[in-house]
Amino acid sequence: MIVSEDSAIAASKEAYVEMLRPYAEKGEIDNDPVLKDRVNKITGRLVAQAIKIRPETKNWDWSIKIIDDPDTVNAWAMAGGKMALYTGLVEKVKPSDDELAQVLGHEIGHALAKHSAEQMSVAMASQVGVMAVGVAAKSDQLALTGASLAAALAIQMPNSRAAESEADRIGIELAAKAGYDPRAAVTLWQKMGKVGGKRPPEFLSTHPAPGNREKNLASLIPQMMPYYEQKGERPVYQFN
Ligand SMILES: [Zn+2]
Repeated sequence: MIVSEDSAIAASKEAYVEMLRPYAEKGEIDNDPVLKDRVNKITGRLVAQAIKIRPETKNWDWSIKIIDDPDTVNAWAMAGGKMALYTGLVEKVKPSDDELAQVLGHEIGHALAKHSAEQMSVAMASQVGVMAVGVAAKSDQLALTGASLAAALAIQMPNSRAAESEADRIGIELAAKAGYDPRAAVTLWQKMGKVGGKRPPEFLSTHPAPGNREKNLASLIPQMMPYYEQKGERPVYQFN
């Protein structure tokens, strides 16, 4: 079963609202105005570059929400540019703006490369029934069925290593073009790997390391530096 990007975008729109609803009801979305400004500025600059790479994505209703959950080190993007960042990632990884741009650029890379639609296809084709039971049992808040449920499950499934390499490459390029230091791609993953605690960061389980992630990212830096060093203001996408 293959999910088209258009279907994935439609299903993700519904899944996004449902995923955020329990947090919204507890007042746990976009609570920190300083962090919100910071994340909007970084993401807005990245999205402006994403639209240059895939012009039709200017019609996406891009969105970034910050979920106030200090224990969850995670970020994700659904089809159609519906994104979320958990405060745990900011608090535990303590990324610089350059490093945060790598996280968000990587997520945008997954959306641009249609990985969410691929993940949804896997969810629907293989074990959506089994997983649906698991999700329903664990969370009473997910009132989703069919494709929208698959969209919610897709962001909780590990990406393939090939998809990870592709998102890494797109992410570092978006970030450099948006004015963020490509060298931060290497330091980000180093910092991420050092986050310990009770369990490894969710971000690392859904974004498994392709072979030589740090080496591959480091090898991309020289070709990214000219984008980063360009003078002048970077365009910013304005979120609704
Ligand atoms: Zn990834």
